[in-house]
Amino acid sequence: MHCTYTPSRCHVNTAALKRNFVRLGDAVSLMPVVKSDAYGHGLLPVARALAEVGARRFAVGTVSEGIALRQAGLVQQIVPLMGVMEAEEWRQASQYSLTVPLENGDDLTCAAQLADTGLSLRVAVKCETGMGRLGFCAEELPLLLETLRSRPGLEPELVLSHLACADQPDEAVYTQAQAECFEGMWRALRDVWPGIERSLNNSAGTLALPQYRYEICRVGLAIYGGNPFAGLTPQDTAAYRAQQLEWVMSVSAPVLRVRQLKAGQSLSYGRIFTASHDITVAVVAAGYATGVARALSNIMELIIHGRRVRQIGRICMSMLMVDVSNLPQVRAGDLAWILGGSAAAGYSPVTAQEMADTLGTIPYEILCQMGMSNPRVYC
Ligand SMILES: *Cc1c(COP(=O)(O)O)cnc(C)c1O
Repeated sequence: MHCTYTPSRCHVNTAALKRNFVRLGDAVSLMPVVKSDAYGHGLLPVARALAEVGARRFAVGTVSEGIALRQAGLVQQIVPLMGVMEAEEWRQASQYSLTVPLENGDDLTCAAQLADTGLSLRVAVKCETGMGRLGFCAEELPLLLETLRSRPGLEPELVLSHLACADQPDEAVYTQAQAECFEGMWRALRDVWPGIERSLNNSAGTLALPQYRYEICRVGLAIYGGNPFAGLTPQDTAAYRAQQLEWVMSVSAPVLRVRQLKAGQSLSYGRIFTASHDITVAVVAAGYATGVARALSNIMELIIHGRRVRQIGRICMSMLMVDVSNLPQVRAGDLAWILGGSAAAGYSPVTAQEMADTLGTIPYEILCQMGMSNPRVYC
């Protein structure tokens, strides 16, 4: 799965992960989202670390991820957010005690058939309130209620929906409409199952919309240290900054060699960089095969010996070059930090947010890419 043969490393700081989780609220009120291999941080190590600080629930993407957690001995409530995709998975969900979101009439039919064979299944009711993706609409509730009520083997535990714009204060009206729709659907379910628990917020909602915390918040990006409000005003990001979350992932790669480049000489494919004066260049063992987007060529920075250095020339498949003229102490074997690493006074480490901004994307994509392209080590 990873690019196993690379000397670059994805460092996952499980202590920071645990601190972030604890800062975000009571363990019982949080459902950490560990889908897509825990946003590139590694499903099992992340889930185990969170279990150590009391996590009682996990949101995964697929049934197979849920099974992997069970096989690792985790006993928490587990919700595969994408639901069941293969017929065989209904039985598995029952066997492994996963809490399956039902999101349309077909799901309901399959769940009912399973229950009619005498098996039991924990279920979540997924409501469509404005995301336009998965879930029952309010008009479909009567059929849902009738099917579920007549089958005691189906145990509704949760009612879920997802906010489209929790990170956009300018969409507060839309968000409120989603919440009202959600509450209406919850009331109909609660009348039958009084203990059913609600979950609407993602990270952005958890931080900024306490009125929608209900029983459970699903937190993804925030437990990995990311800011769902990046780019907004200081006032709008206050809720994030107040938590003092820490980035969990860092990425390093060794310097392969250090060499001189004379004024007028060019570097790497396409000659997009030519030295205007004599410089010292370090060749680093990272590239687009290890998650460093080629589009960052000539514009990204790295940390070496605690200082910011500029990347120069086209980024290659597994090598990239940096200008280390100001760091005469750099030697082959030294570590370059593509994300994180410790920075000297006056310098700051490169964050997934900074890299995402440079690329015109979001930190989620950077974390997944880096985590999936580099062998992971845990500390
Ligand atoms: C991914 C996901 C989340 C977590 O979102 P973050 O912004 O990372 O907190 C929550 N709920 C659902 C349904 C998701 O798919």
